[in-house]
Amino acid sequence: MPDTPHDVTASPARHLPSLRGQLSLVLGGLALAILTLVGVYLGRVATQELYTAQQAVVRTTAQFAADLLATELRDREREIELLSVAPHLVDGPLDAPRVRDALERRAALHDEFGWLGVAAPDGTVLQATGGLLAGRSVAQREWFIAARERVYVGDVHEAKLLASMLPVAPNGEPTRFIDFAAPIRAADGKLLGVVGAHAHWRWVTGLVEGVTRRQNPGGGIDALILDRDGRVLYPEALKAAQADGANVLPRPASGRFDGELDFGGQTYLTSEAQLQSSTDAALGWRIVTRQPLEQALRPVRDLQRELVLLGIMAAAVLTLAALLLARRISRPVEELAQIAERVEAERRMPDFPPDPGAMELARLSDAMRAMAGSLLATEQELQQANATLEAQVQQRTAELQAANAALEHLATRDPLTGLHNRRSLDARLAEAQALDRRYGRQRARVHALLLLDVDHFKRINDQFGHPTGDAVLRQLAHLLQASIRATDVAARFGGEEFAVLLPELAGPQEAVIAAEKIRAAVETVSFAQVGRVTVSVGVSLASVDDLDARPLIDRADGALYEAKRGGRNAVVLKLAPTLG
Ligand code: GH3
Ligand code: MG
Ligand code: MG
Repeated sequence: MPDTPHDVTASPARHLPSLRGQLSLVLGGLALAILTLVGVYLGRVATQELYTAQQAVVRTTAQFAADLLATELRDREREIELLSVAPHLVDGPLDAPRVRDALERRAALHDEFGWLGVAAPDGTVLQATGGLLAGRSVAQREWFIAARERVYVGDVHEAKLLASMLPVAPNGEPTRFIDFAAPIRAADGKLLGVVGAHAHWRWVTGLVEGVTRRQNPGGGIDALILDRDGRVLYPEALKAAQADGANVLPRPASGRFDGELDFGGQTYLTSEAQLQSSTDAALGWRIVTRQPLEQALRPVRDLQRELVLLGIMAAAVLTLAALLLARRISRPVEELAQIAERVEAERRMPDFPPDPGAMELARLSDAMRAMAGSLLATEQELQQANATLEAQVQQRTAELQAANAALEHLATRDPLTGLHNRRSLDARLAEAQALDRRYGRQRARVHALLLLDVDHFKRINDQFGHPTGDAVLRQLAHLLQASIRATDVAARFGGEEFAVLLPELAGPQEAVIAAEKIRAAVETVSFAQVGRVTVSVGVSLASVDDLDARPLIDRADGALYEAKRGGRNAVVLKLAPTLG
């Protein structure tokens, strides 16, 4: 059986990232990526939308302001024109008190008028609201000169003669006016005088500010009033900076303020609108509106920041959820892996979790249970088969050994007496000779051979029958075996002749004693039915001159012959000629 990897620490599974980590990473990363993409996409769309919308607001603000201002200026212009043809004035005289009453009424109706008056054709102020400037000459003033010919609307200017007579503005700004004036003519066209009005500049700027505020309640859009030459009339801060020589509003390359333009290192969304005038007394003013791009797009940046925050939060939540989910999945899987390891280590059926938590895991658990069951069953069957096989092998081996022993017995033993047979004796004789040859001389030991022959055995057969002869032979063999040492070898030499091999004797005397002992034992014993039986014994000692067992046997045979001849029941020793 191959060595199975019990050592799980060496398994490659220990070096792989965990399912929990991978799931959390993928889900968290996915959430962050998706929300980032959505954020970028939404940001881009919103930027586009907001850009367009803010540009529209900037544009309409400029247009509204220009339209309103044009309308209001035209109204005031018309007002003065109407006043110039009013019967009180045309019918004269211009210094009559009712002319002053008419002027005061108009001024009360329009508080934007800081001053309203009529001047004689020579420039002397005849009547004015509050009596201001009455009797003084306005002959050099632009509005007077121009209005001698036509209806006049003039650019903003600082109050000159009136500056000290009117209350100072709350913000400390110098009093500024724009002038409206119209000629007063008699029915025949003769110039009777000039009616003029100074409208407060703050009325104009208030109109523009009002529109800007209404259009853009959140603030951020500036409205500028530029004159015909592009000089800033409003707001005051820019106008002041410009008066110091600063290039506050570079003329755009296209000639018009429109779209994105850079002012002083900052990018603005811009637009402009021309004041439309129905009369030839056009001022040529323009309203320019602008909003810093950064501020216009701030809501998008805020949205994007919120989306990024939301993305991070969602990623965190999803990562946490993924962690929990992955733990729900991986814990039962790890439990199943531990169970599988336990099956391998303990070789018994472990307890499976009752509720793995998911259908797939339940299937896996069932499949593992079935697999473990069949594995363990197979293993048990294998062990049983092994044990059975071993028992069979042992039994067969024992049988074989018994058969071998029986075979050996058959091959080496004489069937009648159980003593060694002739073949076995020959082998023992050869062994003894080899041993003597190797050690015999130094130990002064030799082996001897006894040949025994039953005396007058033929008679026994004849007298008692062959089976009784056989019984005598068996008893004799038994007696023989009992009379010799364990190391001696008793054999049936043939017929009623026996042989005894006596190994390692000190000399011939020992052999003769052994032979005598046997002979005497046989003589003493009474054989069943037969009674007394005797044997003759020939004794010989091995010689170093013997090439094989033959001479030893021959000498013993010769000795036996002599024992017979000498009268039987005797022991005769015959030694080799060289030793004798
Ligand atoms: P002796 O040796 O004393 O000269 O006389 P003997 O009668 O024994 O003469 P011999 O040795 O020539 O006769 C041996 C007899 O032994 C001959 C044979 O019938 C008998 N014999 C040989 N083998 C067996 C045997 O296995 N069983 C029986 N019953 N008789 C055997
Ligand atoms: Mg014989
Ligand atoms: Mg005999």
